[in-house]
Amino acid sequence: LAGICASYVGSKLQRALRARNSTTGLNLHSVTSIKRDTGPSLAPTRSPKKRLEQADKRCIIFYGTQTGTAEKFAMVMARELTARFNLPSMIADLDDYDYIDLSSMLPNQLAIFILATYGEGEPTDNAISFESFLRQQTVQVEDQEVKSMPSLRYAAFGLGSSSYPLFNAMVTKVDDALQRCGATRVGMVGRGDDSKGTCEADFVNWKETTLSDIATCFNLKQVEYKFQPIFTILEESSRESVEVYLGEPNKNHLNGRICGPFTARNPFPAKILVARELFTSSERNCLHLEFDISDTTMTYETGDHLAVWPVNSDLEVERFLKVLNLFDKRETIINITNIDPTIKAPIPSKTTYEAAARYYLDICAPVSQQSLAILATVASGSAQHALQTLGTDQALFQIEVSDKLLNLAQTLEMIGATTTCSTVPFSFFLENISKLQPRYYSISSSSLASSKKISITAVVESSVAPGSDVPFKGVSTNYLLALKRHACGLREGSTIFPTHILSGPRGRYNQPTALINVRRSKFRLPRSSGTPVIMVGPGTGVAPFRGFVQERALQARSGRTGGRTILFYGCRNKDEDYLYKDEWDSYSSSSNNGEFSIYTAFSREHPGRRVYVQDVIRTRAGELKELILNQNAHVYVCGDATRMAKDVFKTFEDIMDGCVPGSSHDYLKVLKASGRWSEDVW
Ligand code: FAD
Repeated sequence: LAGICASYVGSKLQRALRARNSTTGLNLHSVTSIKRDTGPSLAPTRSPKKRLEQADKRCIIFYGTQTGTAEKFAMVMARELTARFNLPSMIADLDDYDYIDLSSMLPNQLAIFILATYGEGEPTDNAISFESFLRQQTVQVEDQEVKSMPSLRYAAFGLGSSSYPLFNAMVTKVDDALQRCGATRVGMVGRGDDSKGTCEADFVNWKETTLSDIATCFNLKQVEYKFQPIFTILEESSRESVEVYLGEPNKNHLNGRICGPFTARNPFPAKILVARELFTSSERNCLHLEFDISDTTMTYETGDHLAVWPVNSDLEVERFLKVLNLFDKRETIINITNIDPTIKAPIPSKTTYEAAARYYLDICAPVSQQSLAILATVASGSAQHALQTLGTDQALFQIEVSDKLLNLAQTLEMIGATTTCSTVPFSFFLENISKLQPRYYSISSSSLASSKKISITAVVESSVAPGSDVPFKGVSTNYLLALKRHACGLREGSTIFPTHILSGPRGRYNQPTALINVRRSKFRLPRSSGTPVIMVGPGTGVAPFRGFVQERALQARSGRTGGRTILFYGCRNKDEDYLYKDEWDSYSSSSNNGEFSIYTAFSREHPGRRVYVQDVIRTRAGELKELILNQNAHVYVCGDATRMAKDVFKTFEDIMDGCVPGSSHDYLKVLKASGRWSEDVW
């Protein structure tokens, strides 16, 4: 049989295919090559109300996402509202719509907002225009004293991290603005907390109560939930691969046309010019990489972030394909079509199972408990019971899966579910695994000093969780490590150094190359080179400050007034992980008469006494107060959001206490609001 239908074919499409096949004299099981089927589609519109009418839906679930989690949650919500409550629902990328007619939504329609907060209380890239629309709306409402959205009913969930001072700011802002515009909220606002690792559990709790609030509000009856695939996957036996995505991010790349502008939708394959190790320890790795952007229109500014698009390791790709019984047909071409016109295929199509696993799906991401529970209802065989138990027992799931940092394939392997999944439609995996997303790195070079080379400083994520036999390997940093090893002529792999395909889709890269794009940030040096800066950046938090210091040194060398430039840096040990140790002196001597100083804290050098950056900051209290109070100094903090940034803030509160009118906490908040205190933390 040359071509088979790998997924359950949804009834509508099945009928369409049967009709087509009967006219061509083919049946599904004898199709040798099927032309690309794009699935049903709708006329383009940016109006949410029109889209609901066109698609015959009643609920629109907008997502604001940076890493794909909010989109995944939106998908779950849409699926359950449709299947459990008979409320036809669709998901919507905020960037794909205008919002003005939210005000004319009907009372029997519902909008749900699932919104991540990015960095310091900011919207995700695809929610920026929505945030500014709401800001304008609230101003208008206040000016005209007329509620602009009285008929809108909505529910809201936020994804954030309580390690940031502005926890879940985006959903709070949106809820507040919608209330002011007169919209009616159904249920409570949910707030997922990533720093506690409870985001998914928070979402599930919110979802269950909100679904029942929605059911009451819209008078809906609950029916038993059954998994229905939303994509049809047709396998093709053809080896014709010109139109098949084998890792390319978009059509231009597929056609070999690499041209700007380079964005998250169109990243640039940058050659790696320099790749070196910054730690001397053999147990931990920290990489300095320099990407060549000389042949492009790509630009960056000191303080920006670099997005790096990773590739999954051979080990994890193989594990995933084997567990799903797809390894032997990994090169089979698959055509993914949507059954529902409002849902786009999440990854490029046509593609192959292997390309999907290697380039497009985040197969190493934490597995969600919900997806195991749903899998238990679709899978068959001996492991079904184990899946069901893990999918329902929160404590067991925590111990056996979450604490061990297992991904989906590792979990299935652990419970011996290999054959269990062979009957599960591939659509299930497309629906439950997020798209592979870029990882961000604070650029560690100055655009003034090096406009055509971008450098990053990345510490490699590698650990073994207690009780686990499978080492945890961060996706992007281990890919970068493999690129660095390749650049240094080291190609053999092991469990410590998993191998990756580094030659790019269709082997197009003839030297170490990675897909990148620049993300603009607000982390900027003051306009005047004479303004003093105080930087706090332990560990890889020093990355942007290398760029800042390079820039100030160059400005000073070119005769501009050099303001005081202070860097507080911390690491374990000066001989092991002191990043860029040999460079800092050269900036001191080149920057106007030693205006640059680096103050170090080595936490593991004194047995029994750990010294951190905040301890060294305290010893410099007098100088810091003078710079902040009398010389308009700007303060910058970069690195760990969970503890360091909070501890540093507290330290400055203590230092400033008593020498500012009112509380030092409020004083630092004002500094933040005026742009004199900036954080770049993760
Ligand atoms: P990932 O695979 O993404 O894993 C990272 C973490 O996710 C793990 O430690 C774990 O907590 C969790 N996780 C992943 N998979 C699982 C699983 N299966 N089960 C449970 N938990 C899991 N880093 C730097 O080194 N230098 C920088 O300059 C830098 N700048 C940054 C700037 C910004 C704006 C941001 C947002 C982040 C920055 N980071 C920086 C962090 C960086 O983006 C990456 O998060 C980091 O390198 C790890 O990426 P990874 O793909 O190797 O790890």
